[in-house]
Amino acid sequence: MTLGFIIIFSGFGLIFGSFFNVVIYRLPRALDHNLSGNFPKKSLLTYLSYPGSHCTSCKQSISWFDNIPVLSWLFLLGRCRFCRTLISPIYVIVEVITMLFFTYSYWQYGFTAETFVWTTFFSIMILLFFIDLQSFYLPDILNYALIGFGLFFSYFGLTGIDFITSIIGGIFGFLSFFLVNFIYRLWRKRDGFGGGDIKLLAGLGSWFGVMSLMPIIIISSVLAIFFTGIMLVLGSKYKMTSMLPFGPFLVLSALIVYTNLYLYSLPMMRFFYVL
Ligand SMILES: [Zn+2]
Repeated sequence: MTLGFIIIFSGFGLIFGSFFNVVIYRLPRALDHNLSGNFPKKSLLTYLSYPGSHCTSCKQSISWFDNIPVLSWLFLLGRCRFCRTLISPIYVIVEVITMLFFTYSYWQYGFTAETFVWTTFFSIMILLFFIDLQSFYLPDILNYALIGFGLFFSYFGLTGIDFITSIIGGIFGFLSFFLVNFIYRLWRKRDGFGGGDIKLLAGLGSWFGVMSLMPIIIISSVLAIFFTGIMLVLGSKYKMTSMLPFGPFLVLSALIVYTNLYLYSLPMMRFFYVL
């Protein structure tokens, strides 16, 4: 563990965070385009790579020195160099969060396969969190990557659960939300959860095992209810009937479960893991 490597991993985090911003912005638009039936359909890779970085307001392309993570945004005081339109601080937040998770992974696991395993996990979590928050999408490609990596890394004993637990976790994750949604539909006569939430829960089951599904579902529901309550108190235009993206709450509860399993045993979680 040297300071040099900590700086290198922080740098990697910033660069990946900068790339994640591109994915968070473009992937939902690519899905919209391909779902809308407009032709020509393009591959997701084309969407992610073309055109180059540009201001979403005035379309001016952004040169490399205006595209340095965090620093350029600070230097330009959060505005486009050409049209002075405000650039959302979300871009910087994504870069900083990615940097923190990458640095944490190296700090926690050092130069090991686990560092790669958990940076992969945190990266998918960051992408799903911000895409669902902004666009109400949990793209299949990310959910399937989560499920695939969970099974793959568990097979090689790198996730803390064995392969069988991972498979059962995936299957039960899929079934449990399916069941919740079925009950919700009987009650409210419409879907409460998107198909994306079901696949995300299957993915989390494949990473944390079947025994972690109950805490993930309960904690995410509590967080969602708590958040809805705050929004109602603040008197926003938010209504109970409007769509609330559930993915961000699943991501947050997955991070709490990770903390409980691999960092500190949280007292509030003991109830779930008595067996
Ligand atoms: Zn501009």
